[in-house]
Amino acid sequence: MTDAPALSRRHVRHELVQRHLTVASVRSVTPRIVRVTLTGELDGFAADGPTDHLKVFFPDPRTGRIATPGFHAGGLGLSAPGAVISRDYTPADHRPGELDLDLVVHGDGGPASAWASRAAVGDPLIVAGPKTSKLVPDGLTSLVLVVDETAFPTAARWLRLTPPDVPVTLLLDAPEEAARYFDGLPGSRRATIRAGVDLEAALRALPIDPGTFVFLAGEATTLVPLRRYLRRELGLGPEQVVASGYWKRGVAGLDHHAPVDPDDPD
Ligand SMILES: Cc1cc2nc3c(=O)[nH]c(=O)nc-3n(C[C@H](O)[C@H](O)[C@H](O)COP(=O)(O)OP(=O)(O)OC[C@H]3O[C@@H](n4cnc5c(N)ncnc54)[C@H](O)[C@@H]3O)c2cc1C
Repeated sequence: MTDAPALSRRHVRHELVQRHLTVASVRSVTPRIVRVTLTGELDGFAADGPTDHLKVFFPDPRTGRIATPGFHAGGLGLSAPGAVISRDYTPADHRPGELDLDLVVHGDGGPASAWASRAAVGDPLIVAGPKTSKLVPDGLTSLVLVVDETAFPTAARWLRLTPPDVPVTLLLDAPEEAARYFDGLPGSRRATIRAGVDLEAALRALPIDPGTFVFLAGEATTLVPLRRYLRRELGLGPEQVVASGYWKRGVAGLDHHAPVDPDDPD
């Protein structure tokens, strides 16, 4: 008999490289998601884990120049005059020489969204990461994903990277029409997808076994009651439940390392 958790995720480290990229195409995937395909310095780009993410550096709208902190080829300090404007994004997909980012457009209130709403072929962008890939858990028997549109690309990565015999339930914090994002995606046919539902009621109705992994991502305060149910009521550990605040209402540039539930940090 061993006390080792049923699920464990191996980590793969990557060299942190700053990549200068250019927009090669732009298209809308759902009414709120714009897919930007980037080309450029992508040699050696690797993203092996479902929750991999990138630091994306956007141009300062006043100067049009992209500033990055401290790790440009010329040494320490800002790479260009102006403010460093960066946000976290998921490598939705990548092929040799191409990287897709799927960005939610939520108005001009944030620099990333404002950039995405006007993105055009030829626009420059700088990305760094992923630093680490956390792989799909070993020992996984079922997967539950609760995501809003900002984490649709992460859900797509889970579907692609999870073994095909593992059943997946996908609860979308989004209107039903947004579910078309998943149509035809690799790994999506074995998924049960529900949109426009009461998330907590739907989550409570699901069987959670020792081999079930639950990934929650989206608006941070929305995740609190869901995480409390899983962690406090069901007593599941962090190896089985990951709740990641991808954004927080009223907060610009949320640090996703901040605990989702300040009363119960991991
Ligand atoms: C690990 C990780 C991966 C992520 N991957 C993706 C991804 O692939 N695609 C994606 O679209 N997002 C993704 N996000 C979320 C994205 O980083 C945030 O939504 C970010 O705040 C957007 O920056 P902004 O400049 O548009 O807005 P900010 O300047 O950060 O915020 C300005 C205002 O807009 C609000 N706001 C921010 N995001 C939203 C939103 N989605 N809807 C409504 N209001 C919002 C804020 O509450 C704030 O009031 C990810 C986040 C993390 C932590």
